[in-house]
Amino acid sequence: MFYEVVGKISIALGGGILFLILLSLFLGVLVVKKNKLILPKLLLFTIDTFYFQARRIAKMFGLGERIIDEIGIQVRNHLNREKFSTIPGKDRIIVVPQCLRYIKCPARLDSSIGVACRNCGKCMISELKREAEKLGYGFYIVPGGSFVQRIIKAVKPKAALGVACVKDLNAAMHDLSKTECIVQGIPLVKDGCVETQVDLKELFRVMRLGIEKSIEDMGRTCTSSELANAQR
Ligand code: SF4
Repeated sequence: MFYEVVGKISIALGGGILFLILLSLFLGVLVVKKNKLILPKLLLFTIDTFYFQARRIAKMFGLGERIIDEIGIQVRNHLNREKFSTIPGKDRIIVVPQCLRYIKCPARLDSSIGVACRNCGKCMISELKREAEKLGYGFYIVPGGSFVQRIIKAVKPKAALGVACVKDLNAAMHDLSKTECIVQGIPLVKDGCVETQVDLKELFRVMRLGIEKSIEDMGRTCTSSELANAQR
């Protein structure tokens, strides 16, 4: 009798979890493919709690395991975007992976700030760094996820914009969601270990969220010093 009850409870629990994962997969596909956000908190709860199971089920349905990370990133981006836009550039940081660099990059790794770009112009990082600094961001090129945590602890930014492969990005955004830091993420369009790529246009668009508005409010093109003042 006891084992029968335990068996029934286990089956009901398993069925409930499976239903939750399937529902979240359906809602997640709507977010990723149609940009439609429904029940975001439930979605995040399910993919955070049943991450590995959800990946396996997504693979079984031919959706690919990476969709689970894409869902996590997009849902957090949606939930945080408005708040992120209200934070001045000077209180934001941007963190990009070192694999974005030119393969023969001359920059060296510094244990406190990450890779110190020399602006040689051989990869898009010099352009990205210039734009980030113009908008007031702290700019960091990091060798891995643990370095991100180190920078967050040292700098204590109010907001962070991260670039990484979907798996690392989702994990970092999940970790940062337990802190006060408001996070946004842009996944790499070509990942791997070297010379990866990011959609620079999309990255610039997110970097400028809320900041462009301050400039528009000034009603004209700003000088560099006016732009810096707009961040304060
Ligand atoms: S621009 Fe910076 S990151 Fe890119 S290759 Fe040159 S020094 Fe390295």
